[in-house]
Amino acid sequence: MSQVEDFLTAKQEKEIVLAIREAERNTSGEIRVHIESSTQISHYKRAIEVFRMLKMYNTLQRNAVLIYIAVNDHKFVIYGDKAINKIVPNNFWDATKNIIQDYFKKGEFKQGIVEGILKVGKELKTHFPWTVDDIDELSNEISKT
Ligand code: CA
Ligand code: CA
Repeated sequence: MSQVEDFLTAKQEKEIVLAIREAERNTSGEIRVHIESSTQISHYKRAIEVFRMLKMYNTLQRNAVLIYIAVNDHKFVIYGDKAINKIVPNNFWDATKNIIQDYFKKGEFKQGIVEGILKVGKELKTHFPWTVDDIDELSNEISKT
C-alpha cells in the first residue's frame, strides 16, 4: 500500500487545490504541492529537484513556491523561486514552516498544508498582486511521485 496515496483523502486533496486557487486569486504568484514517500538525498536538495522537474522556474516573475512533502520521512520543505526569496522578510519561511509543523504534529496534514498555502498566498499578494492579465502558469493539482 502506498503511503503517498493514504496521506490525504480525495476530499482533502480537493480542499488543498481549492486553497491554492483561493491564494492565487490575489496574486500573480504560483503555489504547488508535491507529495512523495521518501528520498535518499537531503530534503532541501530534493525539493529543488522537484521544483525543476515541475518546471516551476517557468514563471514570468519567478515567483513560484513549492511545498514539498516526504510522507515516510516525516519531512517537508517550502521552496520559493528567486524573486520571492529576494523580497520576503527573513523570518517568513520559518514562520510558515512553523505553522505547517504545528498542524502536522497534531496529525492534521490537510489543514497544515492549507494554512501554509494561505500564508504563502498572503505574502505573495503583498509583493506580487494579482493583475487582470494574470494567467495560471502552473497547475493547481497536487503532484506525486
Ligand atoms: Ca498566476
Ligand atoms: Ca496555479
